[in-house]
Amino acid sequence: MAEPIPTDWVKRASSLRLRVQNIVDGRSVAQSGDETSKKLSPRDGEPLYEFHASAKENVASAVDSARRSFEDGRWWRQSPQARHDVLLRLANLLETHAEELALFECLDVGKPISDALSIDLPFAVSVLRYNAESVDKLHAKVYAADPTCLAYQLRRPAGVVAAIVGWNFPLALAVQKVAPALATGNSAVLKPSELASLSACRLAQLALEAGVPDGVLNVVHGGAETGEFLGRHLDVDMLTFTGSSRTGKRLLVAAGESNMKRLLLECGGKAPNIVFEDCPSIDAVADAIIARAFWNQGEVCSASSRVLVQNSMREELQRQLVYRASALKPGDPLKVDTTYGALVSAGHRTKVLEYIEEGKREGAEILYASNNPPPLTSGFYVSPTIFSCVQPSHRIAREEIFGPVLSILSFEHEDEAIALANSTIYGLSAIIWTRDMGRSHRLSQGIRAGSVTVNASSAPKGGPPDCAMASGGHKQSGIGVEGGLEGLEAYTVQTAVQYFV
Ligand code: NAD
Repeated sequence: MAEPIPTDWVKRASSLRLRVQNIVDGRSVAQSGDETSKKLSPRDGEPLYEFHASAKENVASAVDSARRSFEDGRWWRQSPQARHDVLLRLANLLETHAEELALFECLDVGKPISDALSIDLPFAVSVLRYNAESVDKLHAKVYAADPTCLAYQLRRPAGVVAAIVGWNFPLALAVQKVAPALATGNSAVLKPSELASLSACRLAQLALEAGVPDGVLNVVHGGAETGEFLGRHLDVDMLTFTGSSRTGKRLLVAAGESNMKRLLLECGGKAPNIVFEDCPSIDAVADAIIARAFWNQGEVCSASSRVLVQNSMREELQRQLVYRASALKPGDPLKVDTTYGALVSAGHRTKVLEYIEEGKREGAEILYASNNPPPLTSGFYVSPTIFSCVQPSHRIAREEIFGPVLSILSFEHEDEAIALANSTIYGLSAIIWTRDMGRSHRLSQGIRAGSVTVNASSAPKGGPPDCAMASGGHKQSGIGVEGGLEGLEAYTVQTAVQYFV
Protein backbone atom coordinates (compact mmCIF):
# COMPACT_ATOMS: atom_id res chain seq x y z
CA MET A 1 0.00 0.00 0.00
CA ALA A 2 1.26 3.53 -0.80
CA GLU A 3 2.54 5.58 2.14
CA PRO A 4 0.05 8.25 3.23
CA ILE A 5 1.22 11.78 2.41
CA PRO A 6 2.25 13.46 5.67
CA THR A 7 0.24 16.52 6.60
CA ASP A 8 2.45 17.76 9.42
CA TRP A 9 5.15 19.33 7.29
CA VAL A 10 5.96 21.91 9.98
CA LYS A 11 7.08 19.14 12.31
CA ARG A 12 9.06 17.43 9.56
CA ALA A 13 10.75 20.69 8.64
CA SER A 14 11.76 21.44 12.21
CA SER A 15 13.44 18.04 12.56
CA LEU A 16 15.76 18.62 9.55
CA ARG A 17 19.45 19.36 9.96
CA LEU A 18 20.34 21.38 6.90
CA ARG A 19 23.90 21.46 5.57
CA VAL A 20 25.15 22.95 2.36
CA GLN A 21 28.37 21.47 1.04
CA ASN A 22 30.00 21.19 -2.36
CA ILE A 23 30.11 17.82 -4.05
CA VAL A 24 33.37 17.24 -5.85
CA ASP A 25 34.64 13.99 -7.28
CA GLY A 26 31.85 12.06 -5.58
CA ARG A 27 32.45 13.44 -2.08
CA SER A 28 31.01 16.23 0.08
CA VAL A 29 33.62 18.91 0.72
CA ALA A 30 33.43 22.20 2.60
CA GLN A 31 33.67 25.52 0.77
CA SER A 32 36.44 27.88 1.86
CA GLY A 33 35.32 31.31 0.56
CA ASP A 34 35.24 34.35 2.85
CA GLU A 35 31.69 35.28 1.94
CA THR A 36 28.96 33.70 4.09
CA SER A 37 25.44 33.19 2.78
CA LYS A 38 22.80 33.38 5.48
CA LYS A 39 19.63 31.87 4.19
CA LEU A 40 16.46 33.04 5.94
CA SER A 41 13.28 31.05 5.70
CA PRO A 42 10.76 32.76 3.38
CA ARG A 43 7.84 31.50 5.50
CA ASP A 44 8.87 33.04 8.84
CA GLY A 45 12.08 35.02 8.25
CA GLU A 46 14.00 32.80 10.71
CA PRO A 47 17.54 31.54 9.92
CA LEU A 48 17.30 28.34 7.89
CA TYR A 49 20.98 27.57 7.22
CA GLU A 50 24.22 29.30 6.41
CA PHE A 51 27.26 28.37 4.40
CA HIS A 52 30.50 29.72 3.00
CA ALA A 53 30.51 30.54 -0.68
CA SER A 54 32.94 28.58 -2.85
CA ALA A 55 36.33 30.24 -3.24
CA LYS A 56 38.13 30.31 -6.57
CA GLU A 57 40.14 27.20 -5.65
CA ASN A 58 36.93 25.30 -4.72
CA VAL A 59 35.52 26.07 -8.17
CA ALA A 60 38.83 25.09 -9.77
CA SER A 61 38.85 21.73 -8.01
CA ALA A 62 35.25 21.03 -9.14
CA VAL A 63 36.17 21.89 -12.74
CA ASP A 64 39.31 19.72 -12.47
CA SER A 65 37.20 16.86 -11.21
CA ALA A 66 34.79 17.24 -14.12
CA ARG A 67 37.70 17.51 -16.55
CA ARG A 68 39.39 14.32 -15.25
CA SER A 69 36.16 12.37 -15.47
CA PHE A 70 35.63 13.64 -19.00
CA GLU A 71 39.14 12.94 -20.23
CA ASP A 72 39.26 9.36 -18.98
CA GLY A 73 35.86 8.72 -20.56
CA ARG A 74 34.33 7.04 -17.51
CA TRP A 75 30.94 8.44 -18.52
CA TRP A 76 30.91 9.47 -22.17
CA ARG A 77 32.55 6.25 -23.35
CA GLN A 78 29.75 4.23 -21.78
CA SER A 79 27.12 3.03 -24.23
CA PRO A 80 24.05 5.19 -24.72
CA GLN A 81 22.05 2.32 -23.20
CA ALA A 82 24.16 2.42 -20.04
CA ARG A 83 23.69 6.18 -19.66
CA HIS A 84 19.98 5.72 -20.34
CA ASP A 85 19.71 3.14 -17.53
CA VAL A 86 21.57 5.32 -15.01
CA LEU A 87 19.47 8.40 -15.76
CA LEU A 88 16.25 6.41 -15.47
CA ARG A 89 17.45 5.09 -12.10
CA LEU A 90 18.04 8.69 -11.07
CA ALA A 91 14.50 9.62 -12.15
CA ASN A 92 13.17 6.76 -10.03
CA LEU A 93 15.24 7.92 -7.06
CA LEU A 94 13.82 11.42 -7.36
CA GLU A 95 10.38 9.87 -7.16
CA THR A 96 11.34 7.80 -4.14
CA HIS A 97 12.68 10.93 -2.42
CA ALA A 98 9.95 13.24 -3.70
CA GLU A 99 8.71 14.31 -0.27
CA GLU A 100 12.16 15.18 1.02
CA LEU A 101 12.99 17.14 -2.13
CA ALA A 102 9.60 18.89 -2.18
CA LEU A 103 10.18 19.96 1.41
CA PHE A 104 13.56 21.46 0.43
CA GLU A 105 11.91 23.40 -2.41
CA CYS A 106 9.17 24.68 -0.14
CA LEU A 107 11.61 25.75 2.59
CA ASP A 108 14.07 27.43 0.24
CA VAL A 109 11.62 29.20 -2.07
CA GLY A 110 8.50 29.71 0.07
CA LYS A 111 6.34 27.92 -2.50
CA PRO A 112 3.34 25.88 -1.30
CA ILE A 113 4.36 22.34 -0.35
CA SER A 114 1.43 20.98 -2.40
CA ASP A 115 2.76 22.68 -5.54
CA ALA A 116 6.28 21.42 -4.89
CA LEU A 117 4.92 17.87 -4.63
CA SER A 118 2.43 18.00 -7.47
CA ILE A 119 4.28 20.22 -9.97
CA ASP A 120 8.01 20.66 -9.32
CA LEU A 121 8.86 17.05 -8.56
CA PRO A 122 6.85 15.37 -11.35
CA PHE A 123 8.25 17.90 -13.82
CA ALA A 124 11.86 17.21 -12.77
CA VAL A 125 11.23 13.46 -13.06
CA SER A 126 9.66 13.84 -16.50
CA VAL A 127 12.62 15.90 -17.75
CA LEU A 128 15.04 13.22 -16.61
CA ARG A 129 13.00 10.44 -18.20
CA TYR A 130 12.59 12.35 -21.46
CA ASN A 131 16.33 12.96 -21.72
CA ALA A 132 17.19 9.39 -20.73
CA GLU A 133 14.87 8.05 -23.42
CA SER A 134 16.37 10.43 -25.99
CA VAL A 135 19.95 9.26 -25.51
CA ASP A 136 19.78 6.97 -28.53
CA LYS A 137 17.71 9.25 -30.75
CA LEU A 138 20.29 11.83 -31.76
CA HIS A 139 21.78 11.50 -35.19
CA ALA A 140 23.98 13.43 -37.56
CA LYS A 141 24.41 13.65 -41.33
CA VAL A 142 26.20 11.52 -43.88
CA TYR A 143 27.01 13.48 -47.07
CA ALA A 144 26.84 12.43 -50.68
CA ALA A 145 30.31 11.44 -51.91
CA ASP A 146 31.76 8.98 -54.38
CA PRO A 147 32.53 5.40 -53.22
CA THR A 148 36.07 6.34 -52.21
CA CYS A 149 34.96 8.66 -49.47
CA LEU A 150 32.78 8.48 -46.39
CA ALA A 151 31.90 12.01 -45.30
CA TYR A 152 29.88 12.46 -42.15
CA GLN A 153 29.19 14.65 -39.22
CA LEU A 154 30.33 13.23 -35.87
CA ARG A 155 28.48 14.36 -32.76
CA ARG A 156 30.38 14.46 -29.48
CA PRO A 157 29.71 15.82 -25.99
CA ALA A 158 30.78 19.44 -25.52
CA GLY A 159 33.10 18.47 -22.63
CA VAL A 160 32.97 20.17 -19.23
CA VAL A 161 29.64 21.95 -18.81
CA ALA A 162 29.05 24.55 -16.11
CA ALA A 163 25.38 24.97 -15.19
CA ILE A 164 24.36 28.10 -13.29
CA VAL A 165 20.71 28.31 -12.28
CA GLY A 166 18.24 30.54 -10.47
CA TRP A 167 16.07 29.86 -7.45
CA ASN A 168 12.43 29.79 -8.51
CA PHE A 169 12.29 26.05 -9.33
CA PRO A 170 15.66 24.99 -7.96
CA LEU A 171 15.48 21.26 -8.66
CA ALA A 172 13.61 21.53 -11.95
CA LEU A 173 16.00 24.18 -13.32
CA ALA A 174 19.01 22.09 -12.26
CA VAL A 175 17.57 18.95 -13.86
CA GLN A 176 16.80 20.85 -17.09
CA LYS A 177 20.57 21.42 -17.36
CA VAL A 178 21.99 18.26 -15.83
CA ALA A 179 19.73 15.81 -17.68
CA PRO A 180 20.65 16.81 -21.27
CA ALA A 181 24.27 17.46 -20.28
CA LEU A 182 24.70 13.99 -18.81
CA ALA A 183 22.55 12.23 -21.38
CA THR A 184 24.89 13.44 -24.11
CA GLY A 185 27.99 12.34 -22.17
CA ASN A 186 29.29 15.58 -20.70
CA SER A 187 30.72 16.07 -17.23
CA ALA A 188 29.18 18.93 -15.28
CA VAL A 189 29.62 21.45 -12.50
CA LEU A 190 26.30 22.72 -11.18
CA LYS A 191 25.97 25.98 -9.29
CA PRO A 192 22.56 26.50 -7.74
CA SER A 193 21.39 29.91 -6.56
CA GLU A 194 22.67 30.99 -3.16
CA LEU A 195 18.97 31.52 -2.30
CA ALA A 196 18.05 27.87 -2.89
CA SER A 197 20.93 25.47 -2.30
CA LEU A 198 19.31 22.41 -0.75
CA SER A 199 17.99 20.27 -3.59
CA ALA A 200 21.14 20.54 -5.76
CA CYS A 201 23.24 18.70 -3.14
CA ARG A 202 20.62 15.98 -2.87
CA LEU A 203 20.37 15.67 -6.65
CA ALA A 204 24.12 15.06 -6.90
CA GLN A 205 24.03 12.50 -4.06
CA LEU A 206 21.17 10.64 -5.71
CA ALA A 207 23.01 10.75 -9.04
CA LEU A 208 25.94 8.95 -7.40
CA GLU A 209 23.53 6.39 -5.96
CA ALA A 210 22.00 5.90 -9.41
CA GLY A 211 25.43 5.10 -10.86
CA VAL A 212 26.69 8.40 -12.27
CA PRO A 213 30.45 7.98 -11.82
CA ASP A 214 32.38 10.17 -9.36
CA GLY A 215 33.36 13.52 -10.82
CA VAL A 216 30.74 13.54 -13.56
CA LEU A 217 28.29 15.72 -11.62
CA ASN A 218 29.89 18.20 -9.23
CA VAL A 219 28.12 20.93 -7.26
CA VAL A 220 29.57 24.24 -6.07
CA HIS A 221 27.68 26.63 -3.84
CA GLY A 222 27.81 30.40 -3.76
CA GLY A 223 26.50 33.51 -5.40
CA ALA A 224 27.57 35.90 -8.16
CA GLU A 225 31.28 35.66 -7.44
CA THR A 226 31.27 31.86 -7.54
CA GLY A 227 29.28 32.07 -10.78
CA GLU A 228 31.84 34.47 -12.26
CA PHE A 229 34.64 32.01 -11.45
CA LEU A 230 32.81 29.43 -13.54
CA GLY A 231 31.96 31.92 -16.27
CA ARG A 232 35.62 32.91 -16.62
CA HIS A 233 37.19 29.49 -16.08
CA LEU A 234 39.44 28.56 -18.98
CA ASP A 235 38.67 24.86 -18.76
CA VAL A 236 34.88 25.08 -18.94
CA ASP A 237 33.77 24.23 -22.49
CA MET A 238 30.14 25.22 -22.22
CA LEU A 239 28.07 27.33 -19.88
CA THR A 240 24.36 26.72 -19.56
CA PHE A 241 22.45 29.32 -17.59
CA THR A 242 18.96 30.04 -16.31
CA GLY A 243 18.47 33.37 -14.61
CA SER A 244 18.03 37.07 -15.25
CA SER A 245 18.89 38.77 -18.53
CA ARG A 246 21.24 41.04 -16.59
CA THR A 247 23.34 38.07 -15.44
CA GLY A 248 23.05 36.44 -18.87
CA LYS A 249 24.72 39.51 -20.39
CA ARG A 250 27.50 39.39 -17.80
CA LEU A 251 28.13 35.76 -18.70
CA LEU A 252 28.40 36.67 -22.38
CA VAL A 253 31.15 39.08 -21.40
CA ALA A 254 32.81 36.51 -19.12
CA ALA A 255 32.80 33.91 -21.89
CA GLY A 256 34.11 36.42 -24.42
CA GLU A 257 36.88 37.61 -22.15
CA SER A 258 37.98 34.08 -21.19
CA ASN A 259 37.89 31.14 -23.58
CA MET A 260 34.84 31.72 -25.81
CA LYS A 261 33.00 28.90 -24.06
CA ARG A 262 29.72 28.19 -25.83
CA LEU A 263 26.64 29.52 -24.09
CA LEU A 264 23.04 28.51 -23.64
CA LEU A 265 21.10 31.30 -21.92
CA GLU A 266 17.54 31.04 -20.62
CA CYS A 267 16.68 34.46 -19.23
CA GLY A 268 13.86 36.74 -18.16
CA GLY A 269 10.37 37.35 -19.54
CA LYS A 270 7.32 39.59 -19.41
CA ALA A 271 4.69 37.35 -20.98
CA PRO A 272 1.65 38.95 -22.59
CA ASN A 273 -1.73 37.26 -22.22
CA ILE A 274 -3.70 38.57 -25.20
CA VAL A 275 -7.45 38.25 -24.88
CA PHE A 276 -9.73 38.83 -27.88
CA GLU A 277 -13.49 39.15 -27.68
CA ASP A 278 -13.85 35.86 -29.59
CA CYS A 279 -12.01 33.93 -26.85
CA PRO A 280 -13.52 30.51 -26.11
CA SER A 281 -14.82 31.32 -22.61
CA ILE A 282 -14.19 34.20 -20.27
CA ASP A 283 -14.28 31.81 -17.28
CA ALA A 284 -11.46 29.72 -18.76
CA VAL A 285 -9.48 32.86 -19.58
CA ALA A 286 -9.83 34.31 -16.08
CA ASP A 287 -9.00 30.97 -14.41
CA ALA A 288 -5.87 30.58 -16.52
CA ILE A 289 -4.66 34.16 -16.10
CA ILE A 290 -4.92 34.02 -12.32
CA ALA A 291 -3.31 30.58 -12.19
CA ARG A 292 -0.43 31.64 -14.44
CA ALA A 293 0.09 35.09 -12.94
CA PHE A 294 0.17 34.02 -9.30
CA TRP A 295 1.45 30.44 -9.43
CA ASN A 296 4.73 30.28 -7.49
CA GLN A 297 3.88 33.81 -6.24
CA GLY A 298 4.48 35.13 -9.76
CA GLU A 299 8.13 34.08 -9.55
CA VAL A 300 8.00 32.36 -12.93
CA CYS A 301 9.84 33.45 -16.09
CA SER A 302 6.73 32.80 -18.18
CA ALA A 303 4.25 34.21 -15.63
CA SER A 304 1.30 35.93 -17.28
CA SER A 305 2.32 39.26 -15.85
CA ARG A 306 0.64 41.36 -18.56
CA VAL A 307 -2.96 41.06 -19.68
CA LEU A 308 -3.70 42.76 -23.00
CA VAL A 309 -7.46 42.72 -23.39
CA GLN A 310 -9.67 43.93 -26.22
CA ASN A 311 -11.54 47.04 -25.04
CA SER A 312 -15.02 45.58 -25.42
CA MET A 313 -14.47 42.93 -22.76
CA ARG A 314 -12.10 44.69 -20.38
CA GLU A 315 -14.70 45.46 -17.68
CA GLU A 316 -16.05 41.93 -17.56
CA LEU A 317 -12.61 40.31 -17.53
CA GLN A 318 -11.47 42.61 -14.73
CA ARG A 319 -14.48 41.58 -12.62
CA GLN A 320 -13.72 37.91 -13.19
CA LEU A 321 -10.04 38.34 -12.35
CA VAL A 322 -10.78 40.08 -9.05
CA TYR A 323 -13.26 37.38 -8.12
CA ARG A 324 -10.70 34.65 -8.74
CA ALA A 325 -7.77 36.45 -7.12
CA SER A 326 -9.80 36.73 -3.92
CA ALA A 327 -10.30 32.95 -3.98
CA LEU A 328 -6.55 32.24 -3.76
CA LYS A 329 -5.50 30.83 -0.42
CA PRO A 330 -2.44 32.73 0.76
CA GLY A 331 -0.90 30.95 3.69
CA ASP A 332 1.98 29.19 5.36
CA PRO A 333 3.77 27.33 2.52
CA LEU A 334 4.02 24.27 4.77
CA LYS A 335 0.24 23.93 5.08
CA VAL A 336 -1.20 21.52 2.52
CA ASP A 337 -4.17 23.68 1.55
CA THR A 338 -2.09 26.80 0.84
CA THR A 339 -2.20 27.78 -2.83
CA TYR A 340 -0.09 30.93 -2.58
CA GLY A 341 3.02 31.21 -0.38
CA ALA A 342 5.87 33.60 0.39
CA LEU A 343 8.48 35.34 -1.76
CA VAL A 344 12.00 33.94 -1.75
CA SER A 345 13.80 36.63 0.26
CA ALA A 346 13.40 39.92 2.09
CA GLY A 347 15.36 41.65 -0.69
CA HIS A 348 13.09 40.32 -3.40
CA ARG A 349 10.01 41.29 -1.38
CA THR A 350 11.33 44.86 -1.15
CA LYS A 351 11.91 44.95 -4.91
CA VAL A 352 8.36 43.77 -5.63
CA LEU A 353 6.83 46.25 -3.15
CA GLU A 354 8.82 49.05 -4.81
CA TYR A 355 7.32 48.12 -8.17
CA ILE A 356 3.84 48.25 -6.63
CA GLU A 357 4.54 51.75 -5.31
CA GLU A 358 5.99 52.76 -8.68
CA GLY A 359 2.83 51.50 -10.42
CA LYS A 360 0.68 53.73 -8.19
CA ARG A 361 3.02 56.69 -8.67
CA GLU A 362 2.86 56.36 -12.45
CA GLY A 363 -0.93 56.47 -12.38
CA ALA A 364 -2.05 52.84 -12.63
CA GLU A 365 -4.95 51.84 -10.35
CA ILE A 366 -4.93 48.96 -7.92
CA LEU A 367 -7.81 46.72 -8.89
CA TYR A 368 -7.07 44.03 -6.33
CA ALA A 369 -4.79 43.64 -3.30
CA SER A 370 -5.66 41.86 -0.11
CA ASN A 371 -5.58 43.69 3.21
CA ASN A 372 -5.38 40.47 5.19
CA PRO A 373 -2.41 40.18 7.56
CA PRO A 374 0.39 37.87 6.36
CA PRO A 375 0.11 34.26 7.53
CA LEU A 376 3.30 34.55 9.63
CA THR A 377 4.23 38.11 10.52
CA SER A 378 7.96 37.90 9.87
CA GLY A 379 7.77 35.94 6.57
CA PHE A 380 8.31 37.47 3.14
CA TYR A 381 4.70 37.76 2.01
CA VAL A 382 3.21 40.07 -0.62
CA SER A 383 -0.47 40.02 -1.56
CA PRO A 384 -1.37 39.11 -5.15
CA THR A 385 -1.82 42.52 -6.78
CA ILE A 386 -3.71 43.48 -9.94
CA PHE A 387 -3.30 46.87 -11.62
CA SER A 388 -5.73 48.31 -14.15
CA CYS A 389 -5.37 51.43 -16.32
CA VAL A 390 -1.75 50.50 -16.98
CA GLN A 391 -0.06 52.40 -19.81
CA PRO A 392 2.58 50.83 -22.08
CA SER A 393 5.09 53.40 -20.83
CA HIS A 394 4.70 52.37 -17.17
CA ARG A 395 7.58 50.44 -15.68
CA ILE A 396 5.19 47.77 -14.38
CA ALA A 397 4.19 47.15 -18.02
CA ARG A 398 7.72 46.95 -19.36
CA GLU A 399 10.03 45.48 -16.72
CA GLU A 400 10.17 41.98 -15.30
CA ILE A 401 8.97 42.16 -11.69
CA PHE A 402 9.19 38.40 -11.10
CA GLY A 403 6.54 38.64 -8.44
CA PRO A 404 2.76 38.64 -7.91
CA VAL A 405 1.92 41.78 -9.88
CA LEU A 406 -0.46 41.60 -12.83
CA SER A 407 -0.83 44.62 -15.14
CA ILE A 408 -3.92 45.02 -17.32
CA LEU A 409 -3.64 47.02 -20.56
CA SER A 410 -6.22 47.25 -23.31
CA PHE A 411 -6.27 47.46 -27.11
CA GLU A 412 -8.73 47.87 -29.95
CA HIS A 413 -7.18 46.11 -32.97
CA GLU A 414 -5.00 43.09 -33.65
CA ASP A 415 -2.02 45.16 -34.84
CA GLU A 416 -2.10 47.18 -31.67
CA ALA A 417 -2.08 43.94 -29.64
CA ILE A 418 1.01 42.73 -31.50
CA ALA A 419 2.79 46.04 -30.98
CA LEU A 420 1.96 46.00 -27.27
CA ALA A 421 3.05 42.38 -26.91
CA ASN A 422 6.40 43.27 -28.48
CA SER A 423 6.92 46.44 -26.47
CA THR A 424 9.40 45.02 -23.93
CA ILE A 425 13.00 43.89 -24.20
CA TYR A 426 11.83 40.30 -23.60
CA GLY A 427 10.59 37.60 -25.94
CA LEU A 428 10.17 34.46 -23.90
CA SER A 429 6.53 33.40 -24.14
CA ALA A 430 3.04 34.60 -24.97
CA ILE A 431 -0.52 33.39 -24.56
CA ILE A 432 -3.31 34.18 -27.01
CA TRP A 433 -7.03 33.72 -26.50
CA THR A 434 -9.07 33.55 -29.70
CA ARG A 435 -11.15 31.04 -31.67
CA ASP A 436 -9.95 32.50 -34.94
CA MET A 437 -7.13 30.28 -36.17
CA GLY A 438 -6.06 32.76 -38.83
CA ARG A 439 -5.67 35.44 -36.19
CA SER A 440 -3.80 33.09 -33.88
CA HIS A 441 -1.43 32.27 -36.73
CA ARG A 442 -0.88 35.94 -37.59
CA LEU A 443 -0.12 36.71 -33.97
CA SER A 444 2.21 33.73 -33.59
CA GLN A 445 4.17 35.14 -36.54
CA GLY A 446 4.02 38.73 -35.35
CA ILE A 447 4.91 38.27 -31.71
CA ARG A 448 8.57 37.78 -30.94
CA ALA A 449 8.42 34.97 -28.39
CA GLY A 450 10.09 31.59 -28.01
CA SER A 451 6.78 29.93 -27.20
CA VAL A 452 3.19 30.82 -27.96
CA THR A 453 0.24 29.05 -26.40
CA VAL A 454 -3.26 29.54 -27.74
CA ASN A 455 -6.32 28.99 -25.58
CA ALA A 456 -4.38 27.39 -22.74
CA SER A 457 -6.69 26.55 -19.89
CA SER A 458 -5.16 26.56 -16.42
CA ALA A 459 -4.49 22.82 -16.70
CA PRO A 460 -4.29 22.06 -20.42
CA LYS A 461 -4.30 18.41 -21.45
CA GLY A 462 -3.44 16.59 -24.65
CA GLY A 463 -0.27 18.40 -25.71
CA PRO A 464 3.23 16.94 -25.61
CA PRO A 465 5.09 17.16 -22.30
CA ASP A 466 6.66 20.59 -21.82
CA CYS A 467 10.16 19.16 -21.99
CA ALA A 468 9.52 17.60 -25.41
CA MET A 469 9.22 20.90 -27.27
CA ALA A 470 12.34 22.93 -27.94
CA SER A 471 11.94 26.52 -26.89
CA GLY A 472 14.15 29.40 -25.89
CA GLY A 473 13.88 33.13 -25.55
CA HIS A 474 13.97 35.66 -28.37
CA LYS A 475 15.42 39.17 -27.90
CA GLN A 476 16.89 39.57 -24.41
CA SER A 477 15.17 36.45 -23.08
CA GLY A 478 18.02 34.21 -24.09
CA ILE A 479 20.15 32.41 -26.63
CA GLY A 480 19.57 28.82 -27.74
CA VAL A 481 16.83 26.34 -26.93
CA GLU A 482 16.04 23.94 -24.14
CA GLY A 483 13.86 20.84 -24.49
CA GLY A 484 13.26 18.30 -27.22
CA LEU A 485 16.02 16.67 -29.24
CA GLU A 486 17.35 20.12 -30.21
CA GLY A 487 17.80 20.76 -26.49
CA LEU A 488 20.06 17.70 -26.28
CA GLU A 489 21.96 18.66 -29.41
CA ALA A 490 22.82 21.94 -27.71
CA TYR A 491 25.13 19.98 -25.39
CA THR A 492 27.08 18.44 -28.26
CA VAL A 493 29.67 19.64 -30.74
CA GLN A 494 30.09 18.36 -34.27
CA THR A 495 33.14 17.29 -36.20
CA ALA A 496 33.06 16.98 -39.98
CA VAL A 497 34.86 13.75 -40.88
CA GLN A 498 35.99 12.66 -44.37
CA TYR A 499 37.34 9.13 -44.63
CA PHE A 500 39.07 8.34 -47.92
CA VAL A 501 39.19 4.68 -48.69
P1 NAD B 1 20.03 35.84 -11.27
O1 NAD B 1 20.48 36.17 -12.64
O2 NAD B 1 20.17 36.85 -10.22
O3 NAD B 1 20.82 34.55 -10.74
C1 NAD B 1 20.82 33.33 -11.45
C2 NAD B 1 22.08 32.55 -11.11
O4 NAD B 1 23.20 33.29 -11.57
C3 NAD B 1 22.28 32.33 -9.61
O5 NAD B 1 22.86 31.07 -9.42
C4 NAD B 1 23.26 33.43 -9.25
O6 NAD B 1 24.04 33.14 -8.12
C5 NAD B 1 24.11 33.49 -10.50
N1 NAD B 1 24.78 34.77 -10.73
C6 NAD B 1 24.36 36.00 -10.36
N2 NAD B 1 25.25 36.92 -10.81
C7 NAD B 1 26.21 36.26 -11.49
C8 NAD B 1 27.39 36.65 -12.18
N3 NAD B 1 27.75 37.92 -12.27
N4 NAD B 1 28.13 35.69 -12.78
C9 NAD B 1 27.76 34.39 -12.72
N5 NAD B 1 26.68 33.96 -12.04
C10 NAD B 1 25.90 34.88 -11.44
O7 NAD B 1 18.53 35.35 -11.43
P2 NAD B 1 17.55 34.85 -10.28
O8 NAD B 1 17.08 36.03 -9.50
O9 NAD B 1 18.17 33.72 -9.56
O10 NAD B 1 16.36 34.23 -11.13
C11 NAD B 1 15.33 35.03 -11.64
C12 NAD B 1 15.50 35.24 -13.12
O11 NAD B 1 15.59 33.98 -13.77
C13 NAD B 1 14.32 35.93 -13.75
O12 NAD B 1 14.78 36.89 -14.64
C14 NAD B 1 13.60 34.81 -14.49
O13 NAD B 1 12.83 35.23 -15.58
C15 NAD B 1 14.75 33.96 -14.91
N6 NAD B 1 14.32 32.59 -15.23
C16 NAD B 1 14.30 32.22 -16.54
C17 NAD B 1 13.85 30.95 -16.89
C18 NAD B 1 13.80 30.53 -18.35
O14 NAD B 1 13.63 29.35 -18.62
N7 NAD B 1 13.96 31.44 -19.29
C19 NAD B 1 13.45 30.06 -15.90
C20 NAD B 1 13.50 30.47 -14.58
C21 NAD B 1 13.95 31.74 -14.25
